[in-house]
Amino acid sequence: MMKIEKYSIGVGDRFAHQARAQLRACLMAAEAGREVIPVWNKSNREHNIVGSEPASVRAAADDAVRALGWTKPYHVDADHINLDTVDRFIGPSDFFTIDVAHFIGRPAAQAAVEDFLAGHPELIATLMIAGIDRPFTTTRESVAQIAGKYLYAVQEAARIYRHIADRKGEGAFITEVSMDETDSPQTPPELLVILAAIAQEKIPIQTIAPKFTGRFNKGVDYVGDLKQFTIELEGDLAVIAHAIRQYGLPESLKLSVHSGSDKFSIYGAISRATAKFGAGVHLKTAGTTWLEELIGLAEAGPGGLALAKEVYAKAYENAQALCEPYASVIDIAFEKLPSPAQVQNWTAAEYTGALRHDQACRQFDQNVRQLLHVGFKVAAKMGDRYLRMLEECEESISRNVTSNLFARHIEPLFLAHSAPAIARG
Ligand SMILES: [Zn+2]
Repeated sequence: MMKIEKYSIGVGDRFAHQARAQLRACLMAAEAGREVIPVWNKSNREHNIVGSEPASVRAAADDAVRALGWTKPYHVDADHINLDTVDRFIGPSDFFTIDVAHFIGRPAAQAAVEDFLAGHPELIATLMIAGIDRPFTTTRESVAQIAGKYLYAVQEAARIYRHIADRKGEGAFITEVSMDETDSPQTPPELLVILAAIAQEKIPIQTIAPKFTGRFNKGVDYVGDLKQFTIELEGDLAVIAHAIRQYGLPESLKLSVHSGSDKFSIYGAISRATAKFGAGVHLKTAGTTWLEELIGLAEAGPGGLALAKEVYAKAYENAQALCEPYASVIDIAFEKLPSPAQVQNWTAAEYTGALRHDQACRQFDQNVRQLLHVGFKVAAKMGDRYLRMLEECEESISRNVTSNLFARHIEPLFLAHSAPAIARG
C-alpha cells in the first residue's frame, strides 16, 4: 500500500510555476536532517477559478522532481473533492482529500445506526484513552446521537473512496477524509466514532482533517484560544493512536491541518504535541505561495512592481465577488484597505512591507494580505501577460517562495522539536 510519510507539507501552486522553488524548501529540510515530503495540492475550486486542469499539477511536480533530483516520495493531492468533481483528478492524483463536511448531520438510515451500535459495544462504556486525562462516559443514546450525525458522512466518504479505488486500484493512492469546513470541532468521542465507522467501511484512511476551534483565515495567523486548541489537538492525537490500535487502521494515520499556512502561533503547539505523541502531521498550505509570487514581482523591478499594483487595484475593484467564495475564511476590514491610488504611489519596499507576513513589521497590513490572497483570479485573467512576468522575475520570486516555506513553515513546525527516539509507523 502507498503510505504517507510521517511529516509532509501540502504546497499549493496556483499558476504551476513554483514547484521547483517549493521543492527546494523540502531539500533544505532534508539537509537539516528532517524528511518532509511535498504534496502538491490544488482544490477543484482553485482549478475552476484559475481555469486549470489537475494534470498541470502533476506535470509541474514531476518536472520539479526531475530537475532537482528529488529521490524521496512526493504526491499530488486532489484537494476537497466529492463524487461530482473527482473524475478529472483520478489520473494525475495519488492523494485524495475526500470532503464530506457537507454531509455531516444528514441522518443515516436507522438500520445503519442500529447495525453500527450492535457492532461496537466497546464504544458504550467509560472510555480511558491513553494521553487524555479524564475518562469519557458514553451511553447508548450518546453514541447513537453521534452515529446519527456522522454515519451518513462516513458512508458518503466510502462511496467516493470506492469510486476512486475501482478506477486506480486499492493501495495505489493515499486517502484523506476532511471534516474541517463545518461549524463545530469534533469532540474525542465523536472522532472515535468517526474513525470506528471509517474502519468499518474499510476506508484505508491515512490523514484526517478535523475541525479545530478558532479562525483559520486564509493567509494570516490563527485567531483563537491557544489553550483550547492545544487541548483539542492532543485529544485528536490520542484518539487517532487509540483508533489505530483498536480498529486496525493504517499505522501511518495522522492529522492533516487545513488552511495551515501562516498559522505561526499554533506551530509551537503542533510541534510539541506531535513530538509528545510520536505522531506525524500533514500541514496544508496553498495561497501563501501565490502571495510570495506577488512579493517577488514587486521586488524584481519596475515592470514587476507595476503588475503587482495592478493586481491590487483590480482586486480592490472586484473585492466583493472575489471574497464571496471565501467569506467564511477571511476577515477583511474593507474600510481600512488603502485605495488603489495610494498603492499606486508605493515603493517596492512599501508594497512588500504591507504584504509580507512579518507581524513585527509596522507596515504589515493583514487586510491587504487577505484581499490579495483571494485575488489570484485577477492574475488568472491576465493570462500570458502574468505568466511571462513570472518567468521574467523568476529569481526574486523563487527566492521568496523557498524562504517563506522553509523559514516560516518548515523550520518552526518540523525542525523545532525532535521526535522521540522510537518513531511510530
Ligand atoms: Zn480544507
